[in-house]
This record gives sequence, C-alpha cells and structure tokens, in this order.
Amino acid sequence: MYFYESHLGGNIYTTDYEKTYDELYCEECGDSDTFLGEYDTWEEFIKDLGTEYASYDPEFLAETAGITVDRLFELNPKLKEDYDEYYNKEENNERPT
Ligand SMILES: [Zn+2]
Repeated sequence: MYFYESHLGGNIYTTDYEKTYDELYCEECGDSDTFLGEYDTWEEFIKDLGTEYASYDPEFLAETAGITVDRLFELNPKLKEDYDEYYNKEENNERPT
C-alpha cells in the first residue's frame, strides 16, 4: 500500500498503486498531496512514523488505521513521547509564567 497525506486537512489515505506527481498535484490550489511511504500494513506504517507526525491527533491516527490509541502507542512509543511533549508545550504556552 502507498500512504499519502492529503493537502486538504492532512488526512492520510492509501492506494494500491503509486500515484504520479500529476495525480498528487491539485490544480485548484497549486498544492499537492505528500507521499509518506510504502508499507504492507497500517501497523507497519504506524511503526515507522517519525517525529514530524507527532502533532497528529493520536485518536485520529488510530481511527484512520483501525486500531486503538493504546495499540498505536504500543506500536510506536515515540509517538506517545512526542505527543506528551507536544501537549505539554501547548499547555505552557497557554499559561506563561
Ligand atoms: Zn487543493
């Protein structure tokens, strides 16, 4: 499966063939969808997710992948660390000392 991030709202979707640049490109806004990688399963994909995706809502990711949030963090503990860090930062920003 080929994993892509939509340029609209950041949804992740998969295809069973590799899209060409023309297919990814959006004429309406000049932006394009992003190729994230090729994996056999959603779990493989989750395992390989890097820190750049820490800002994804884990519930959204888990739901998209058809797994629980606990399973998501089990597959990729780094996501949980980054998630905690990300939300702690947000909290600090809201309440400056
Ligand atoms: Zn567009």
